[in-house]
Amino acid sequence: MAPNGTADENASYRYLSTRGQDSGFSFEEVVLNSVAPDGGLYIPEEIPRATSWESWGDLSFPELAFEIMSLYISPSEIPPADLKAIIARSYSSFRSPDVTPLVQLRENHHLLELFHGPTFASKDIASQFLGNLLEYFLAKKNQGKTSTAADRHRLTFVGATRGDAGSAAIHGLRGKEDISVFVMFPQGQVAPFQEAQITTVPDENVCSLAVAGTFDDCQNLLRRLHADRQANEDFDLVSSRNWAHILAQIVLYFYSYFSLVKKSASLKIGDKVRFVIPTGKFGSILAGYFALHMGLPVDKLVIATNENDILDRFWRTGRYEKQRAGRGGPGSGIKKTLSPAMDILTSHNFERLLWFLACEFASSAGMDQLWNQRQASQEVSQWFQELDGKGFFGPVYRDVIRSARRDFESERITDHQTIETIRAVYRRCGYILDPHSAVGAAATQRSMHRTHASIPHISFSTAHPAKFSETVVKALRGENGFSVETTLMPTELADLEKREKRVTPVENDWQKVREIIKARNGN
Ligand SMILES: *Cc1c(COP(=O)(O)O)cnc(C)c1O
Repeated sequence: MAPNGTADENASYRYLSTRGQDSGFSFEEVVLNSVAPDGGLYIPEEIPRATSWESWGDLSFPELAFEIMSLYISPSEIPPADLKAIIARSYSSFRSPDVTPLVQLRENHHLLELFHGPTFASKDIASQFLGNLLEYFLAKKNQGKTSTAADRHRLTFVGATRGDAGSAAIHGLRGKEDISVFVMFPQGQVAPFQEAQITTVPDENVCSLAVAGTFDDCQNLLRRLHADRQANEDFDLVSSRNWAHILAQIVLYFYSYFSLVKKSASLKIGDKVRFVIPTGKFGSILAGYFALHMGLPVDKLVIATNENDILDRFWRTGRYEKQRAGRGGPGSGIKKTLSPAMDILTSHNFERLLWFLACEFASSAGMDQLWNQRQASQEVSQWFQELDGKGFFGPVYRDVIRSARRDFESERITDHQTIETIRAVYRRCGYILDPHSAVGAAATQRSMHRTHASIPHISFSTAHPAKFSETVVKALRGENGFSVETTLMPTELADLEKREKRVTPVENDWQKVREIIKARNGN
């Protein structure tokens, strides 16, 4: 029986944990908790079929988002008018009227530009939506309480960034009542432009922490903090593993599919398309798995990784294994590449996919769905225990890897190939790719070759090139018509580095970080 009494509603309105025996979580619990009490990640009990998706072709981005999200959120939790308002607020901050415009690079290769939000990177799609959802649920919980009431529900977001991803979280949560935001970055090791994006936000609820250490240190501080009982008692922590991040990105697949149908003379609704996704933590591409199983005609989802290739190796071998420290220099085993937002050791949303694959496998035993779900959670818990213990699990069962290969392909792109792709695309059509989008474009190239260019490809462009200008300049210096000033920097950001900075320095010590948070939160 569901704790919030939604047992009689759609299974896709209820959520379960990838590692637990519990189910029946409400959407509100899922959003406010971020991570399940047993340490697993939340997923809907069932992926809903979008039975009328073919009629969505002419909807605007917000209208389409509403249709899709309504399949995952019970109207008894968020009434339709409220959900529409949350979506409208989230995407009115984007500079393009299409929110995510589709541009053609060549015959059968289209690029979905995801960098028209406040921080010029794809994370805005999810962060803007999550921020407004949290605001909505907090306002509901705190209705009628005075601003100083001890029982106000408050949330704290703590993040660690190399520079690229932290600003999206800040911009999603800035100025939100009852939410405080702390973002740690390695002092002196972030590009000036990116540091400015993190440190020049004037809102009182945002605090940037310059850590005397490396990015790995920042991540360790974050891990310690999330594992600390005291910290969890003192503040209610929001994590970037939030399900709402996935939900928001499902829209991208449907929207770009329809954009392509509108542009294309030959593609009809129902024809198949390939999606190619620059991948790190497996969030964007997992949203594609949901779109596929909701009914969108997806031929394959192509994972594009850089040299941090744990996913690529899984698809080849069925074994999920952390890169050993030392192989890529000192530190954690993460290799520093030109596409830093994809520099990962493990890919946390992959756990969500594994659960569905394990559940599909369990269903071949012919038992009921509850049994399948429990089997899947047990399997996933076992795998991740092994990963923690010995640094790998697998090879997984053949049927599991077979299902993974049915829906996905994978490509690994080196730094050298990234640079070459930025240059080749610029020469061919004058378009400037950022290094992450170039990883996607290079993988697209290979996939098109394999399919004899017979299937349209949509690859995601996940950041504005100005965010990674060093690499772009390295690739394009001396190219005909290229100059940094005129071709890279968007006018909105031209004065960024001159704006006033607010930074709190902190030692490489998680308890010091906890003290700062406690002092600022006033508890
Ligand atoms: C986060 C990010 C990615 C990868 O997305 P995941 O959901 O982590 O797989 C790719 N490119 C950029 C610029 C990003 O910020």
